[in-house]
Amino acid sequence: MTDVAPWMTRLVDTLDGVVAGAKKPVALHEPWFGGNEGAYVKECVDTGWVSSVGKFVDRMERDLCAFTGAAHAVVVANGTAALQLAYQLAGVKHGDEILMPALTFVATANAASHAGGVPHFLESEEGSMGVDVDALDAHLKRVADVQVDGTYNRQTGRRMGCVVTMHVFGHMMQVERLAEVCARYRLPLVEDAAEALGSRRNGKHAGTTGLLSALSFNGNKVVTTGGGGAILTNDPVLGKRAKHLTTTARVPHPWDYFHDEVGYNYRMPNLNAAMGCAQLEALPGMLERKARLAAAYASALRGNPDASFVAPPPESQSNHWLNAIRLARPSMEERDALLGLLHQRGLMCRPIWKLMHRLPMYAACPRMELTVAERLEGTIINVPSSVMLAPAGPTA
Ligand SMILES: *Cc1c(COP(=O)(O)O)cnc(C)c1O
Repeated sequence: MTDVAPWMTRLVDTLDGVVAGAKKPVALHEPWFGGNEGAYVKECVDTGWVSSVGKFVDRMERDLCAFTGAAHAVVVANGTAALQLAYQLAGVKHGDEILMPALTFVATANAASHAGGVPHFLESEEGSMGVDVDALDAHLKRVADVQVDGTYNRQTGRRMGCVVTMHVFGHMMQVERLAEVCARYRLPLVEDAAEALGSRRNGKHAGTTGLLSALSFNGNKVVTTGGGGAILTNDPVLGKRAKHLTTTARVPHPWDYFHDEVGYNYRMPNLNAAMGCAQLEALPGMLERKARLAAAYASALRGNPDASFVAPPPESQSNHWLNAIRLARPSMEERDALLGLLHQRGLMCRPIWKLMHRLPMYAACPRMELTVAERLEGTIINVPSSVMLAPAGPTA
C-alpha cells in the first residue's frame, strides 16, 4: 500500500474541518427524521392499514406528482423494481440491449437483467459524470441500424430496447439533448433518477424528460421510506399500466380475482408510504440544508491543488445527495491510501462505483470506449453528506 503523503493529511484535515463537531464516525449519508414520520407510521399501526393499500400510498403518489411535475407516479417496493418495470414498459423485449452508463450503481444493470435485457455500456462526460451525449451520438451513428420493428446494433445483431441515463449523485446530465439523440434513433429514453429527487435542470425535475423514470427511497437516499421506489411518467397509458403491473395485474372488481396478465407484487406498503409522506413534507427544508453543506465543502476546497469539489453542472439545480471531490492525481494506490486515512479519522468516505463491465456478470457486455469513465472511477470520492451535517443557516 502507498504511504501516506503530506498532501493526504492536509486534505483529510480540510474535509474534517467541514464536519467539525459531528460525532465520529461520520457516516456517508444518514436519514433525517424530524417531522411527522413517527406520527404517520403510528397512524398505520393504530388503524391496521399497514399493507398493500391505504391512504398514504395514494397520498404519496399525489405528492410526488405535485413535487416533480410528473403526470403519473406509482410507488413500488424499491428503486430496482421501478427500473425493471420502466424498461419493460418502455418496450424492452427479451434479448434486447439496454444502453446505460458504465459508471452507475449496479441496480441500473441488474434491473436490465431482470427485464431480460443485455446491458450495453456507455461513456461518461467529465462535467456531470453522466452519459456523454456527443460520444453516444457518434457511437449510434456507427452501430445503430433503424428498422421498422426497432433499432438494431449492427455489431451484435441484437435489437436495442431503450437508452437509460442516470443523474450521478443528484447532478443532472444534459437530459434534453440526450432525448433529442434518442428520438433520432427511435430509442425510448428511461431516466434512472434514483439519486435525483429534488434535482432540476432548467426548472424541469429529474425523471420528467424521459418516457419513464425511476426514483429510489432506500435508506441512504435523500428521501427514505425504509425501502421503496417510484415510477414516474407523463404518459397516461403507461402510468395506468405501471400501476396495473405492479399490483398483480388484477382487474378491479368488488370480489373477483381476475388477473389479465403476469403481474408483479411490487407494491409499496402503506406503512412505508406513511414515512414517505412525512419525508416529502420535510424535503424542501432538507434540500436547503444539503445545499449549505455542499457550499461549505466547495468553499473549504477552493484553490486546493490536490482535490476539487465536484460542482453541479450549469443549468442544473442539484439535490446534493452525495457530495464528491475529484482528486488531482489519477492513481488508485493514492486514492486507496487516502480512503484509509479518512476512515482512520472517522470519515466514512467511499470511492465512486467500479465500472459495470468490471463485475463478473457484466464483463462480456458490449461497451464503448470508456476513457473518461475510467478516469472518474479512479479520482472521485464521496464525502459525508447527511442533512444533519449542514452548518447553521438563516432558517436552521
Ligand atoms: C439507489 C439506486 C438504485 C436502486 O434503488 P433501490 O431502491 O436500492 O433498489 C438504482 N440506481 C441508482 C443509480 C441508485 O443510486
